[in-house]
Amino acid sequence: MPVISFESVTKVYPLPAGDVVALAGVDIAIEQGEFVLIMGPSGSGKSTILNIMGSLDVPTSGEVTIAGKNIGRMDDDELTLMRRDHIGFIFQQFNLIPLLSVVENVEYPLILKGGRNGSRGRAEEVLKAVGIAESHFTHKPGQLSGGQQQRVAIARALVNDPDFLLCDEPTGNLDSKTGTAIMDLLDRMNREEGKTIVMVTHDPRMTEYADRTIRLVDGKVAT
Ligand code: ADP
Ligand code: ADP
Repeated sequence: MPVISFESVTKVYPLPAGDVVALAGVDIAIEQGEFVLIMGPSGSGKSTILNIMGSLDVPTSGEVTIAGKNIGRMDDDELTLMRRDHIGFIFQQFNLIPLLSVVENVEYPLILKGGRNGSRGRAEEVLKAVGIAESHFTHKPGQLSGGQQQRVAIARALVNDPDFLLCDEPTGNLDSKTGTAIMDLLDRMNREEGKTIVMVTHDPRMTEYADRTIRLVDGKVAT
């Protein structure tokens, strides 16, 4: 069974000036272990797809199955649990909590899910795996470079061992050398740990990392 499945998915935003059709009959199946890019011009529906894959929004019609569960029938509490237990999010702006230390940022999702038992050790283990030096664990995110902050954000996304990572322009805020290092890290998580990755990007250089690219045009998958 695919990790993420969209069948005839439509998303309509009702606005006073008239309905906006953001997605019009989208079929997507993403299998365990795949590294998939989503590309397309501005307004083609990329954010809408990410929001639905991330259980932040539900489709207007069609079936969306994530980690074996149909999200169209979930209430807000169930969607929150889906995000917490099954999905790791990585953003362009890192979105770390500025007042928490590096290790506390990574520990936070573990504490939300299961409490403090073993959480510090697990957070430290994942930080090491993404290449953060122990001397930085007690720093605040603002004391780190952009590339290091994104590594911390990747550690936070991985710490609960999610079914897949959802990445929104993860290198968009980094210089090209640092961006390449971050892509190499994600590539390693995909190839060595078998992590499923879905990434929205405008950068055509990313296609070399991915198994395939889904191209969107006007809310439809281009064929
Ligand atoms: P992309 O991420 O590719 O730029 P989006 O998914 O953001 O595309 O948008 C697809 C279409 O849906 C656009 O026409 C956009 O203006 C519209 N849209 C997106 N989000 C909303 C919203 N919350 N309310 C109304 N219209 C929206
Ligand atoms: P990006 O360039 O990162 O894809 P977007 O332009 O798609 O960003 O939109 C950023 C956010 O604004 C998204 O969360 C989207 O849902 C929302 N949004 C986009 N278009 C509209 C709109 N017409 N009305 C309301 N919200 C919108």
